[in-house]
Amino acid sequence: MAKIIFDEKVAGGYGKSVHIVKGQYLTIIDLEGKQIVDFLAFAADDITKYMSVSHTRSTYDTYDLTTGDYMYTVNHEPMIQIVEDTCGVHDMSFPCCNQYMFKNPGMESHRSCQENFTESLSEYGVEGYMIPDPFHFFQNSPNMKLLPNHSKPGDYVKLKFLMDAVVAVSACPYDIKGINGGTPSSIQLTITEES
Ligand SMILES: [Zn+2]
Repeated sequence: MAKIIFDEKVAGGYGKSVHIVKGQYLTIIDLEGKQIVDFLAFAADDITKYMSVSHTRSTYDTYDLTTGDYMYTVNHEPMIQIVEDTCGVHDMSFPCCNQYMFKNPGMESHRSCQENFTESLSEYGVEGYMIPDPFHFFQNSPNMKLLPNHSKPGDYVKLKFLMDAVVAVSACPYDIKGINGGTPSSIQLTITEES
């Protein structure tokens, strides 16, 4: 029986940080489909110990993670396990989008995942320059070529936490060339305890 600890919708183009306790689960739902979710995780007791996509992909010798696989910290500790994944297409190679990608006239105030993370993580002492490369749920970028997502409305990933963590997500605001469906859309975050 699952007990819901937290359940909140995050608007497309915006971000959110949450604290998650060891043993709890986080489900991230792409409510409308085609939405990239940038994802970061830091050990709650030490923000210098964070989930590293480079340590994770070198552990598996692949850029493709799915059900059953773990995400590792910079200390090579398993931090998070993917226990359910209805999409199966994600990315561990790109940085988060940032203000320098939106330099064209009229785009100067465009939001970015870097901005979302900087805003939502400031209360935890994480500053902009400290933001690591994220895991990109639902991002379709084979061979470093960014393509529209495969994710369908309701596709989700469910993550089990192996340590207390501060997590930040961003419903990616990048809306160029049809990415994120051309218009960023909402995601749902649900934290549960399961006996
Ligand atoms: Zn982004």
